[in-house]
Amino acid sequence: MSVRVRFAPSPTGFLHVGGARTALYNYLFARANSGTFVLRIEDTDAARSTDESVGAILDGLRWLGLTWDEGPGVGGAYGPYFQSARHTSYDRSVALLLASGHAYRCWCAPDELAARRAEQLEQGGEPRYDGRCRALPSVEHERRLASGAPYVVRFMLPEAGEVAWDDVVRGRVAFQSEVLDDFVLVRSDGLPTYNFACVVDDIEMAITHVIRGDDHISNTPRQLLLYRALGAGPPVFAHASMILGPDGKRLSKRHGATSVEAFGDLGIVPEGMVNFLALLGWAFDGQQELFALAELERVFRLERVNPNPAVFNTEKLEWVNAQHLKMLDAGERRRRLEAFLARRGVDLSTRPQQWRETFVRALGDRLRTLADAESYGAFALHEALRMEDDAWADLSQRDEAGPRLRSLASRLAADNEWSLASLETGTRELAAELGVKAGELIAMARVALTGRKVAPGIFDVMWLLGRDLAVARLLAAAERWDGRPED
Ligand code: GLU
Repeated sequence: MSVRVRFAPSPTGFLHVGGARTALYNYLFARANSGTFVLRIEDTDAARSTDESVGAILDGLRWLGLTWDEGPGVGGAYGPYFQSARHTSYDRSVALLLASGHAYRCWCAPDELAARRAEQLEQGGEPRYDGRCRALPSVEHERRLASGAPYVVRFMLPEAGEVAWDDVVRGRVAFQSEVLDDFVLVRSDGLPTYNFACVVDDIEMAITHVIRGDDHISNTPRQLLLYRALGAGPPVFAHASMILGPDGKRLSKRHGATSVEAFGDLGIVPEGMVNFLALLGWAFDGQQELFALAELERVFRLERVNPNPAVFNTEKLEWVNAQHLKMLDAGERRRRLEAFLARRGVDLSTRPQQWRETFVRALGDRLRTLADAESYGAFALHEALRMEDDAWADLSQRDEAGPRLRSLASRLAADNEWSLASLETGTRELAAELGVKAGELIAMARVALTGRKVAPGIFDVMWLLGRDLAVARLLAAAERWDGRPED
């Protein structure tokens, strides 16, 4: 039997980290087993589901590169792939369950149920439906049905017993069915509940493995009972651990960006995000940490998903991202940086090709995120210079900085060639003439030209600025140095 897995998001928001990891594990498991990755949109909750959210989720998956084999926009033999279009399936299944005695109609009104719940809670019990409509005399049943009074359809929980499964991630998991109750399958507005629709669809879509977050573990016993009642064999279940923030609490918006898109805005590249998400609860051999998606597709094994909570570590994300940025070839890195900066309102398209290439090369391998280019490359992106305090403190106490920067300004003003080679020769010759080490002169120039103590190579910096701006900044720094307060 070939592997069929699904990612089944409810379209009520963005694709967040937990959902993206679930999608990734399903995708990788399908690819590693030459199986099929299905995307199903669980939009039965009409009040909370939006088209916008569907769009955001699809965009998030596409951004990560997780292509689905069946689902929205692709179709497939098991569609429709939106639950809101699958009512005939749910109607058919509920009719079967009613006919076989695995389900019954319940007319208990919401306020009665609320009162009974409150009573149960007061007596210290777990609130559970008390089965009042389970065995209505058939005359009464017919009378209520004929009256048109609203009802829900409930599952008829079987006699006490254990519901258990062998979870690929967590081993054997068992629940006593007494902890469950006659849960609702179809609401009074005719809409199916999550557990019911999910099982009907997983059966009809021939899903072989259900891989999802462990927040669904408590749903699994109900779903197993439904498989049994519908006469279907259950899939294999694998519940991935929860994702915690650095403070040990479940990852949430409080921890900052959690939607995949927001990470893109922070300058994380999809390759880095995918790699990082894969490592959130999965390991290959405990050694290798850097993977391209194509490699993950080969080596991913569900058995190596860790049952312990995974901690979301932003530093690790940035480290992984940095490695992937380094692996991009020069042209691709430039394309990504330019697109990123353009979204931030910095348009490089008007600059000559050579300038753009030099800029990206000068930033080199120091970027952890694309956004770092904004700070690390700021000196070349904006006319005005932002001088960092510690950089100025450094420059202001260097001997003779004012006159020396002025000399360098004159030297650069006279450099008609303006090439990396001429800039280097000119600077080194001047240092020798002034009797200072070239490194000392360069350290001064770096602060004067970039406003920072750490910057790209100084000759790249000069070249990128161009003569006028470089000279102007050297003179401005010299002037400020002259006017610095005496200690
Ligand atoms: N719609 C559910 C969710 O977004 C799917 C759960 C499942 O995979 O069964 O959490």
